[in-house]
Amino acid sequence: MTESERMGMISRRNLMLMAGAGTLAASIAPTLLQAQAANAETISDITPDGALKKLMEGNQRYIDQKRTFPDQARSRIVEVAKGQHPFATVLACSDSRVTPEIIFDQGLGDLFDVRIAGNFLDDVVLGNIEYAALELGVPLLVILGHERCGAVKAALDGKAVPGHISTLVEAIKPAVDATKNLAGDAWDNAVRANVKMNVEKLKDSSPILAEAVKAGKLKVVGGRYDLDSGKVEIIA
Ligand SMILES: [Zn+2]
Repeated sequence: MTESERMGMISRRNLMLMAGAGTLAASIAPTLLQAQAANAETISDITPDGALKKLMEGNQRYIDQKRTFPDQARSRIVEVAKGQHPFATVLACSDSRVTPEIIFDQGLGDLFDVRIAGNFLDDVVLGNIEYAALELGVPLLVILGHERCGAVKAALDGKAVPGHISTLVEAIKPAVDATKNLAGDAWDNAVRANVKMNVEKLKDSSPILAEAVKAGKLKVVGGRYDLDSGKVEIIA
């Protein structure tokens, strides 16, 4: 079986599970069912709200410089080598100052990171998020923008940019357009709007994620990371 066939089987299985239809389970490869059973034991022990609390407590430790550097010992390497059960997906900017494991004081196997300059949704990003939510059972998604984001600034400036950078600028432009008449800091207004618009967009772009949200299996929030204080503020 090729990798794409395997992924197709996984997503079909999850569609059936999401829809509450289990009658075709017998046709699914036993190894996948075993993997799912193993997952279920670990996934069920944290709720979406519990995951958000755990994440924000880690950010507070980071702000206070009281980090505990959890899940980074040799024993953790051995543990997660057998399988991953991250408790949160973080869609963050590629910016080198916004590294999820550091700013949330987490370790190996804790976070499923998707990083893209400007932290916006496209088909590839959505595929990553769907995989985390449906296959790994991750109960929380944080779309995380940040203060003084360079990608947002490029969209705000509206100047010609070389190569494929224009793809990023085009994707962020709607947030700039939506905030151009607002009072205050245009750059930060666009950063915030970009987060909020992508949280909204997720509901329309992925029916299976929207269904997971509706079923209470997935919580989606938007955050803004403050480069100066290190604080993550939930804004959506
Ligand atoms: Zn950025």
